[in-house]
Amino acid sequence: MEHTPAIAERSSDRQAPSFLEEADDEPPDSSEVLRHPQASSTPPMGKSAKNGLIVRFPVSRTTATNPVSRMFRKRFFPKVSGKLWNDWHWQVAHRIRTAAELTRYIPLLSKDEEQALYQADIRLPLAVTPYYMSLVSPADPDQALRRTVVPVYRELIRTPGEADDPLSEEAQSPVPGLVHRYPDRVLLLALDFCSTYCRYCTRSRVVGHGALHPTRTRLERALTYIESKPEIRDVLLSGGDPFLLGDDRLEWILCRLHRIPHVEIIRIGTKVPAVLPQRITPKLVKMLKRYHPLWMSLHFTHPDECTPESQRACSLLADAGIPLGSQTVLLKGVNDTVDIMKNLVHCLMKMRVRPYYLYQCDPISGSSHFRTPVETGMEIIRGLRGFTSGYAVPTYVVDAPAGGGKIPLMPDYIIGREGRNLVMKNYEGNRYQYPNAFCDPI
Ligand SMILES: *Cc1c(COP(=O)(O)O)cnc(C)c1O
Ligand code: SF4
Repeated sequence: MEHTPAIAERSSDRQAPSFLEEADDEPPDSSEVLRHPQASSTPPMGKSAKNGLIVRFPVSRTTATNPVSRMFRKRFFPKVSGKLWNDWHWQVAHRIRTAAELTRYIPLLSKDEEQALYQADIRLPLAVTPYYMSLVSPADPDQALRRTVVPVYRELIRTPGEADDPLSEEAQSPVPGLVHRYPDRVLLLALDFCSTYCRYCTRSRVVGHGALHPTRTRLERALTYIESKPEIRDVLLSGGDPFLLGDDRLEWILCRLHRIPHVEIIRIGTKVPAVLPQRITPKLVKMLKRYHPLWMSLHFTHPDECTPESQRACSLLADAGIPLGSQTVLLKGVNDTVDIMKNLVHCLMKMRVRPYYLYQCDPISGSSHFRTPVETGMEIIRGLRGFTSGYAVPTYVVDAPAGGGKIPLMPDYIIGREGRNLVMKNYEGNRYQYPNAFCDPI
């Protein structure tokens, strides 16, 4: 593979920033905030944030706060200034991590939630940023965002076909935290830490368990592996959430990857714009811009996540020339209808995020309450294609168990053949014949 000298030169004179040894542990817990005596009746959130909150461009580069989050802050954190609330370190330090903290915001837990929180050993830790908690309904246990972050008892039930590592990522890891499944690209798990844990997480076997540290030793092994394989042209940095690393450590990784001549592009997978949009600062974006071509996959689940805060984060990234794609996991009772999905993809398009993948939920242990039949996913694609902008239609994929990779599933538009004509139906269900070309016998 040829590389232009200009790129090689730019890369080689770039100095890796010094590697700051930050603490690998979870950030301090939120006990401090609990010292503020607060009334703990129902938070002022009658209805969830709707996409009506989306504001048009140009978007203010200063912090935008949606009214629901602002009222939540005033109620639960009256001594916390807007500036502090918008500081991502504050958000991370004040994450909701225990059942006792959770009941401050959700005084009436459902039986299912209570059982999970008090009576059992949950596999995936609980963590929700105060910002994301402000979007969670205190009244409705079936609200989409609440279901994605608050554990329920069904999470503890393993049904047939489920596994802790259904995609066999471990078996395809030549070094710890690096998955090499496809010929020309690898998945590098930077760390196992997220600001907010999704109950359906594919990597719940690793995330939040302190098993994958972003230590120099481990990352050096992964980098050495990538350096030794000239066929790797695309490195996907994920985790955990890479943006939970400090700017310096993240830059160290990006810089090291960028200097590898055969690595043509770097991708970052993150949920930060949805759960911790405060992390996307002008300073971070300025740093990211130095590592182009840099692409990003943002994890969005539901239109309620598309707030002015998220929009601001996305616009900072998009303005830095970073192409933004979204990855959405199809979840039963959360986003498994054409209406919700259409609303979500439209919100994403308005935030300049191109819907990339719609994932069938992996058969991770304790996921049966989240999984839909694949027919649901295909019906959603059928309900989008033709009915809305082609750019807004993601590719629906099933990650094949045992490491087979992503397999796209499409509704079938071919009805059959009549002579040399291909008989198809369009999005409205009307029949069309296409005069197919003859295949020359070889
Ligand atoms: C999803 C994934 C990738 C990237 O796949 P794309 O289809 O190129 O986005 C790479 N490696 C692993 C292990 C993956 O799961
Ligand atoms: S953000 Fe991703 S890695 Fe983190 S808990 Fe959610 S699905 Fe898992």
